[in-house]
Amino acid sequence: MSRWISQEAERLAPYTPGEQPQDQQYVKLNTNESPFPPSPKVLKAINRAEILKLNLYSDPTCAALTEAIARRYELKAKNVLAGNGSDEVLAFAFRAFCGAGQPVAFADVTYGFYKSQAALFDLDVKIIPLREDFTLHVDDYMDFPGTIVIANPNAPTGIAVPRNDIQRLLEANPDRVVIVDEAYVDFGAESCVPMIYRYDNLLVTQTMSKSRSLAGGRVGYALGSPELIADLNRVKYSFHPYNVNRLSIAAGAAAVADEAYFAACTAAIRQTRAWTVGELENLGFTVLPSQANFVFARHSQLPGETLYRKLKENGVLVRWFDADRIRDYIRITIGSMEQMETLVEELTAILEEL
Ligand SMILES: *Cc1c(COP(=O)(O)O)cnc(C)c1O
Repeated sequence: MSRWISQEAERLAPYTPGEQPQDQQYVKLNTNESPFPPSPKVLKAINRAEILKLNLYSDPTCAALTEAIARRYELKAKNVLAGNGSDEVLAFAFRAFCGAGQPVAFADVTYGFYKSQAALFDLDVKIIPLREDFTLHVDDYMDFPGTIVIANPNAPTGIAVPRNDIQRLLEANPDRVVIVDEAYVDFGAESCVPMIYRYDNLLVTQTMSKSRSLAGGRVGYALGSPELIADLNRVKYSFHPYNVNRLSIAAGAAAVADEAYFAACTAAIRQTRAWTVGELENLGFTVLPSQANFVFARHSQLPGETLYRKLKENGVLVRWFDADRIRDYIRITIGSMEQMETLVEELTAILEEL
């Protein structure tokens, strides 16, 4: 740190992203990207005409994108805010709905970025531990006097909370905002989006990074009541009015309109997930029940760190977290069938060495 750093910046807790090696030498199963390219419609949308307009600022309202998203979810554009990835949307939400007298609660084992955002905005945080089996019980959040953030399905466990449970939480806490981070919802969990018209304290965030093959495009969005969306815009226009670039607006709008491609990709991932879980269990792994495009697994014979390291030596990247409760586990992204076959071959070889 330099001698000029502010006290506020000194106190930050920056998020550590998964490795992004820039050569193609790994089977990359560590950051939950899609193994499939973006929809062919995205390629058509990012065309020469669009590139030639890069001298002009992008639309600050992201109208083409928010309207396409609104159509897909049967909402109005005023129910949608688009962001430069859902990480940015989450940051707007943390700033908008948490602060002095408005603490934030989230699970002990969840998306690591919540902690980073809370530190950035200097928030009071209540960590609510998951149960022994890593399930989240909304009853543990009922008395919390502040904003609640739930990743559903959760990361890195993959475990989902039923929509009815979230509904109970919304009803018990009409004066508090509940943020449901649905980054992985398209791989099998129940979305809370259908409840947006009924509960004005519900904010759902989603991303095109996982189920729509646009991680590098950085497109995320929040869905909620017009009042919540207006509050998010207040933060956005205080931070970065042109937050989504021109090419990403076009890419996102095209991706969200291609329902057939989306359905095919997410179905393939679910099928490959089922196959992978079976293979891992045959190899003696314990696998948590996942509704996401990754699985969280541990092996009785080898610690998580060793599995991670040995896989990496053999060209397969997975994610290992050096954190309480989950040190024994590795998180494996569900890639293409071919990638998962390679993973299983390498794991088989590693376990045979024992
Ligand atoms: C990947 C992820 C996000 C953020 O994705 P973006 O790429 O910023 O849209 C948000 N929440 C969870 C739980 C994630 O895993």
